[in-house]
Amino acid sequence: MKAIGENQIAAVIGTPIAHSKSPVIHRYWLQQYQIRGDYIAIKVEPDKLSVAIPAMQTLGLIGCNVTIPHKEKAIQLADEVTDRAVQIGSANCLIFEENGRIEADNTDGYGFITNLNEGAPDWQHRDGEIVVLGAGGAARAVISALIATGVSKITVCNRTRARAQNLRRFFGEKVAVEEWRQVGKLWERAALVVNATSLGMEQGAEMTIPIEGLKADTVVSDLVYGSKETAFLRAARRAGCQTVGGVGMLLHQAVPCFERWYGVKPEVDSKLEKLVSQ
Ligand code: NAP
Repeated sequence: MKAIGENQIAAVIGTPIAHSKSPVIHRYWLQQYQIRGDYIAIKVEPDKLSVAIPAMQTLGLIGCNVTIPHKEKAIQLADEVTDRAVQIGSANCLIFEENGRIEADNTDGYGFITNLNEGAPDWQHRDGEIVVLGAGGAARAVISALIATGVSKITVCNRTRARAQNLRRFFGEKVAVEEWRQVGKLWERAALVVNATSLGMEQGAEMTIPIEGLKADTVVSDLVYGSKETAFLRAARRAGCQTVGGVGMLLHQAVPCFERWYGVKPEVDSKLEKLVSQ
């Protein structure tokens, strides 16, 4: 039997948590690299986060992924925060150091850009503008990663305009804000469109923005993932656009977390991709 404290055990915390694919990913790699350890999902309610984190540390876990709704609060509970987590303003990965300190990192931006580079390697050479739909935590990670590659302008459209304006205040003049309802007007100038809203999630609201007007040489990326291609990506693919789905981002954001906890940089392979896409 695997005992916490004697094996390297990490977790993902959040609520709801049963749907999380993270245990599948990390357990796959643990097996692949024959590491004695485990990765478990723990449901943690918002008012229990500040108790749950030190409790996990006391029990001997080596770290945890943090998901909805704890990402912003988790950063405040850490002793050290990586630069990219500061940029994004939230944490998706905590590392429990042997000296008792907690380091917070955010690997979502890394996951996004690695997936985009893999799925559409020439995205930076396409002529046109970058449009990000959404202004939540995921949009922040996307914008931060895009700016780190050197892009000079990103137009953000969000249902709640004030949240998009917060991103402009935070990231500065590289971010422009457009009305959510006007987004269709940007299509003909777009080289890259990223859906960072939660629209299109299984059992959630569908993306209502029509894609008519998108050029065939636009790259369309959707952060939303599930067992099926999202309607937004499907429509874009049918319009001839190159599309990049969200599963790859999920897999790639897990790589630096696994490496920090278990000391091995794991590989994202097609078998894992298939396993997670089921
Ligand atoms: P969040 O902070 O809750 O933000 C949700 C975003 O969706 C906001 O911009 C929100 O707009 C918008 N939205 C929600 N319902 C809408 C509606 N009916 N109409 C228009 N806009 C709507 O969530 P998040 O953490 O940024 O995550 C966003 C999505 O990215 C989720 O689906 C999540 O699963 C996905 N994600 C994927 C990965 C990956 O690895 N593939 C990683 C992180 C996140 P308002 O501001 O107007 O509410």
